[in-house]
Amino acid sequence: MKKIYGNTALISTISSMIQRDRAAHSVMFCGEKGSGRKLMAKYYTASLLCEAPENGVPCGSCPACRMVDSFSHPDVTVVPTSGKLGGYSVETARSVCSDAFIKPNNNTGKKVYLFFDCRKMDPRTQNTLLKLIEEPPDYAYFIFTAESKYEFLPTIISRCCCFGVSPCTGEESAAALRESGFSEKEISAAVSCFHGNIGRCTEYIVDESLRKQVDLTKRIADSIIRRDEYELNSAFFAIGSDRDSAHTVLSMTDLLVRDAAVLSKDSAAGAAGCHRDSALRLSQVISAYQAARIHSRIEKAWSAIESNVSIPLVFAALCCEIINIAV
Ligand SMILES: [Zn+2]
Repeated sequence: MKKIYGNTALISTISSMIQRDRAAHSVMFCGEKGSGRKLMAKYYTASLLCEAPENGVPCGSCPACRMVDSFSHPDVTVVPTSGKLGGYSVETARSVCSDAFIKPNNNTGKKVYLFFDCRKMDPRTQNTLLKLIEEPPDYAYFIFTAESKYEFLPTIISRCCCFGVSPCTGEESAAALRESGFSEKEISAAVSCFHGNIGRCTEYIVDESLRKQVDLTKRIADSIIRRDEYELNSAFFAIGSDRDSAHTVLSMTDLLVRDAAVLSKDSAAGAAGCHRDSALRLSQVISAYQAARIHSRIEKAWSAIESNVSIPLVFAALCCEIINIAV
C-alpha cells in the first residue's frame, strides 16, 4: 500500500478505534479531489481486515492487506456507479442491502462496502441504505468518500463517523512525488500548481488533460485581465462538454479568483490556486468585491452543470456575466 503523507491525527484516531475494537461501522472520508480520501478509505479497510495489525496499524504485507490494496479481497465490495452522471442507483443500494446479510468468508469475519466519490447521492438511494446503516450486521462496514459530508442527507450524516482528509504541505507532496520517481523539474511544476494535493500533483505530471485544463484556467484569467470577451468565450469553449473537465476548470478558476481577492489586500500572500502569477495580475485589475461577485457566478455555473444543463450554454452565460462584472 502507498505510504500516507500528512493526516497523522486521522491515522492515529483510526488505529485507536481498531486497537479498542471500536471501529465505526459507517465512515465518511471527505476532502478535495486528490487529497487522499480514497487512500484513507483503503487504509481503513486494511485496518479492519489485516490479519496481523500492530497497534491498530495494518501490516501491509499479509494476504488480506495485499488483496485490499489491489481491490481483490472477496469481502470488499467497491459499489458500482451507473448512469450518465455516475451516481449510485436505488437498485444498486437494494443489492447492497441484500448482499450485506450474507455472512463473510474471511478469518476476520468482516465485510466492507466502499462507495467512492459520492456526489449529491440520490435521496432515494440514501433512504434505501439508511436502515442498513442504522442497524448494520455486526460484520458489515460502509465507507463513503466525498468532497464534503453535505453531499449526504442529514439522516445519513448523523449515522456516520465523518473524517476530513487534508492535503499535505508542499514539502510532503514533493517528497511523495520524489518517492514515485518523478524528476525535480516535474515535481516543481506540479507542486507550484497543486501544492500539498499529492493526487492532483501526480495527475498533473502523468495526465496531459489536466495540464491542458491548467493552461485553460490561465487563459481564462488572462482574458479577464484584458477584458477580452471573445478570448474568454474561446477559452471556455475549448473546455468542451465533458462534465468533469468543466468542473475541474471551474474550480481552478474559482480558486484563482479567490487568490486574486486575497492578493488585492496583501500582495505577499500565498496562493491556493494553480497560478499565483495570474492571480496577482488579476488582483491588480479587479477588486476583492468584484472577485466575490465572480465567485458567486462560478458557483451558480457549477450547480447548473451538476444539474445536467447544457455545458456550452452555461459557459456562454458565465462569460457574459464575468465580463459585465470585470468592466
Ligand atoms: Zn495485514
